[in-house]
Amino acid sequence: MEFTHTPHPSPVDTDTRAQILAEPGFGKHFTDHMVVIDYDAEKGGWYQASIGPREPISLDPAASVLHYAQEIFEGMKAYKQDDDSLLLFRPEANAARFNTSARRMAMPELPEALFLESIRQLIAQDRDWVPEIEGGALYLRPFMFASEAFLGVRPATQYKYILIACPVGGYFKSDAPAVKIWVSRDYARAAPGGTGAAKTGGNYAASLVPQAEAIERGCDQVVFLDAVEHKWIEELGGMNLFFVFDDGSVVTPPLTGTILPGITRDSLIQLIREEGLQLREEPYSIDQWRADATMGRLTETMACGTAAVVTSVGTVAGPEGEFSIGAGGPGQLTSKLRERLVGIQKGAANDTYGWVTKL
Ligand SMILES: *Cc1c(COP(=O)(O)O)cnc(C)c1O
Repeated sequence: MEFTHTPHPSPVDTDTRAQILAEPGFGKHFTDHMVVIDYDAEKGGWYQASIGPREPISLDPAASVLHYAQEIFEGMKAYKQDDDSLLLFRPEANAARFNTSARRMAMPELPEALFLESIRQLIAQDRDWVPEIEGGALYLRPFMFASEAFLGVRPATQYKYILIACPVGGYFKSDAPAVKIWVSRDYARAAPGGTGAAKTGGNYAASLVPQAEAIERGCDQVVFLDAVEHKWIEELGGMNLFFVFDDGSVVTPPLTGTILPGITRDSLIQLIREEGLQLREEPYSIDQWRADATMGRLTETMACGTAAVVTSVGTVAGPEGEFSIGAGGPGQLTSKLRERLVGIQKGAANDTYGWVTKL
């Protein structure tokens, strides 16, 4: 598919951009351009692709996304290298997951090649927007939503795929070496048969009240338990979890449909096995977590996702009180894996798995 190009008539000036890139924060500054691709079942599918200035979009008030929330998204980072090239980390995995999410939300799939081409197109325009500060990257946000003006309840026939990007620094405010998390007993994120494995906005909407509860309790994030027994640890609002034991084994909750299959999670599984550690995908309960941490059998807990990469969970707070993990600070294996993964993502370490794409 050919992309029509409209250069930005008044892009952000160099000085302002340099100021933004020196302290980008997360998700509050955006690059100059965006990609838009339109879908209409009556026109035979995806029919029009463009790259142009990032600007507000106009939507009919009856657009079905506004009423029934047919929406999916992805999140990925591009890192700048010394030779000025950019590296993407496993973008094919994002393209594939985008379509898995689309199928669950009764939305059309976007050909993986078109997904990847949209990223190439945007980076070609906005490659000066990648921060070079420590931990900085260009965060890419592809998303799709139902744009058809129709209030009946059925899958829409018209969709928009859009790709925007923002320069980002570290994800957590303090770039905390270890985060404190809140165990939500009153709320669930996803139920069996629901949409927990799809990257869809509704899962995040459901997580905001418990997330606010976490912040009120002085925590950074909320950890969700399963919706049936309120016992099995699932994940954070946007990060997967790993539990590290003193016998050299590591456990992560299995993908049973209520957990988002993180690409960082999948990568860590491979890196943990590479370390010669025993990795098991099996259910792990909140009571066991507390007991193992208290006895010192559990030495670390890692939270992982594209935004924050890999971070230690230092303290867990819940209605039954608090417990800390290890010394409450960053864990040894967490730091090692973080370094290894970031090394691959930035092109500093050997990419033995063929994970990075150079642009
Ligand atoms: C995106 C996401 C993750 C992390 O996935 P990555 O591919 O590692 O970025 C974890 N949990 C949820 C709910 C997510 O939406």
